[in-house]
Amino acid sequence: MSDYDVIIVGTGAGGGTLARHLAPSGKRILLLERGDWLTREPQNWSTADVFVDNRYISPDSWYDAKGKAFQPQIHYFVGGATKLYGAALYRLRERDFGELVHHDGVSPAWPIGYDDLEPYYTLAEQRYQVHGARGEDPTEPPASAPYPFPAVSHEPRIQQLADDLAAAGHQPFHAPCGVMLDEANPPYSACLRTATCDGFPCLVHAKADAEVLGVRPALQHPNVTLLTNAQATRLATNDVGTEVTGVVVQHNGTRETVSGDLVVVSCGAANSAKLLLASANDQHPGGLANGSDQVGRNYMFHNSQAVLALSKDPNPTVFQKTLGVNDFYFGGPGFDYPMGNIQMIGKSQAEMFKGEKPLETKLAPGFALRDVASHAVDFWLSTEDLPVPENRVTLERDGNIKLSYSARNATAAGRLYHQLKSMLGQLGMHPDHLIPRHAYLKTDIPIAGVAHQAGTCRMGTDPATSVLNTDCRAHEVDNLYVVDTSCFPSIGAVNPALTAMANALRVGDHLLARLGA
Ligand SMILES: Cc1cc2nc3c(=O)[nH]c(=O)nc-3n(C[C@H](O)[C@H](O)[C@H](O)COP(=O)(O)OP(=O)(O)OC[C@H]3O[C@@H](n4cnc5c(N)ncnc54)[C@H](O)[C@@H]3O)c2cc1C
Ligand code: SF4
Repeated sequence: MSDYDVIIVGTGAGGGTLARHLAPSGKRILLLERGDWLTREPQNWSTADVFVDNRYISPDSWYDAKGKAFQPQIHYFVGGATKLYGAALYRLRERDFGELVHHDGVSPAWPIGYDDLEPYYTLAEQRYQVHGARGEDPTEPPASAPYPFPAVSHEPRIQQLADDLAAAGHQPFHAPCGVMLDEANPPYSACLRTATCDGFPCLVHAKADAEVLGVRPALQHPNVTLLTNAQATRLATNDVGTEVTGVVVQHNGTRETVSGDLVVVSCGAANSAKLLLASANDQHPGGLANGSDQVGRNYMFHNSQAVLALSKDPNPTVFQKTLGVNDFYFGGPGFDYPMGNIQMIGKSQAEMFKGEKPLETKLAPGFALRDVASHAVDFWLSTEDLPVPENRVTLERDGNIKLSYSARNATAAGRLYHQLKSMLGQLGMHPDHLIPRHAYLKTDIPIAGVAHQAGTCRMGTDPATSVLNTDCRAHEVDNLYVVDTSCFPSIGAVNPALTAMANALRVGDHLLARLGA
């Protein structure tokens, strides 16, 4: 008999969400997390600690295509990347599930439709307490229920931006947001509406992350066990290679092997591929479940641009991530191809600019960085990255990840940037200044920004071109599943976490049925 009914490797958006969904079944569930609990400490909300000293970026060393080592923006904690995320919880658009022709290539169709995921998007919005307003976003897909909580209000400068956008004929909307804010009853609101949210951990556990709303509720059930500091290093199979029989774990410095009837990998796209590739054996010489040579391929991470516009009036906004614009998602003036999503990111603060070359050289000495921060309106532009086989994760000889990647869809990303720039004059901003900045991470190496990584074990109906079937089960290994963003055949241009959560719930229902629970 196996030690557990289900072993889940990784506790982020995929694994943490799945754990909570399976927990009430009474089945014996083991969670393996290579990181520790993220310590609640004053530094959680210190801009210098988080953004200058990268306190919560886990030490890891990956290689680029040329073999040069770099430190990725990776977060190994209970809750995974959601501990630091901005909690903008968007659904993919309905058309994102079909094939979509872009200027620079094709975004392939998913093997499941939006309809298959819709009930789970609704459930994920409820589990992650999403605040939003239906009917404002022109590209919003149909939903079977309202948002469980009202939209987070705009502060005055962002309300002005919304009004100016509307006056110019655009359709700004309240961004869907996973913060436990109760504006109707402030004394009882868990969320305090601070400036330290996007990219920071939440000191008061009011962010809808996978630790607080996935792992902790799961652990209320006595049948769920969590091992922290427990890194899965290899999956062993039976002699014929059709079943995982053991998960080899480095746990607090010692090597252990645990067994589960079902094994679910959810380590984040790069690390899930790493685990499968590191589990090569005689039956799976190219890596576990990799007969198609697709494991690690089709890596995507969004063609994102953090840009800062200078407002003519000061921008004293505290919590800025409340507005989105999808008017150019599927195209725009003079460009019949998708461009992407415009949203706000956390309000920039002067300390964050230290070492940001474009800002220092473009503006100094005309503006002190302090003045820049007080007038900055910060946008995040996301264009869909397109999956190509050459963009891939492989393993270096020392066992570490090698990430070979070159950006796709640059034309559309450039168009989106110029679209926003052309609008600045109507929005109370200085029309000449739309300045790129490093959000989240102090690095000049773009591939280190792996926050939105996806696509290394894609799902599909054809085992020759995909790793997983539509239940996210490996085509070649009967009891092996992958439920993180690795399974995405395409990533769309909105933030990925809600889709990972919804899909984990969908796969969770399949697993419950398989377990007879
Ligand atoms: C700063 C930042 C801001 C973001 N903002 C947003 C946003 O606003 N909206 C949005 O939708 N998305 C956002 N994202 C992205 C979002 O957080 C990710 O898409 C999502 O968390 C991915 O879920 P996942 O389950 O694939 O991986 P993760 O959440 O990263 O979870 C993977 C887990 O596996 C663990 N692990 C890895 N390898 C092993 C191993 N071998 N053994 C055991 N455990 C292992 C890791 O420690 C981690 O806990 C942001 C990310 C960052 C970093
Ligand atoms: S805004 Fe709310 S959820 Fe975000 S860090 Fe502050 S208190 Fe936490």
